[in-house]
Amino acid sequence: MSKIAVYPGSFDPITMGHVDIINRISPLYDEVIVLVANSAQKQSLFTSEERKDLIEKSLSHLKNVKVDFFQGLTTDYMKKHNAQVIVRGLRAVVDFEYEMTMANMNKKIAPELETLLVFASPEYYYISSRGVKELALNGGPLNGLVPEVVIEAMAKKLK
Ligand code: ADP
Repeated sequence: MSKIAVYPGSFDPITMGHVDIINRISPLYDEVIVLVANSAQKQSLFTSEERKDLIEKSLSHLKNVKVDFFQGLTTDYMKKHNAQVIVRGLRAVVDFEYEMTMANMNKKIAPELETLLVFASPEYYYISSRGVKELALNGGPLNGLVPEVVIEAMAKKLK
């Protein structure tokens, strides 16, 4: 049976922190699916199609990674695609409580799935999509925080 991991998130937009997590987990699984959450509750800067496109362009060097988007429970998507592991990134302590709650909730509704928490690398732990958007809105430099394609897309979007 193929080992398939799903890395769900908003990715609005993908940052170097996300890229780092995906680079590190892709050798551990046969396939990694980056799942763009199409949340009705969250206002996003980029549409899910745009987010998917930016992720694909940023990860074209990884052959076992695919990108998809989904509206609904991550666990339902995973059952449909025979995925076994949910990957989430952990930055500061503030992420911990939220991630623990989510992991326990998912364990309750889908006991056969596991959550794998991966620590952010020290050079990326302070990067968030929200911080990047804030910076871009105020004309700050994005070099090193997000992939090149994202810098271009943000410039176009905020023009
Ligand atoms: P969500 O809105 O679901 O939290 P995000 O796109 O903000 O989605 O993040 C997706 C996942 O990536 C989360 O588990 C988050 O903690 C993690 N993540 C975000 N930024 C970083 C980073 N700089 N380093 C490592 N993990 C990160």
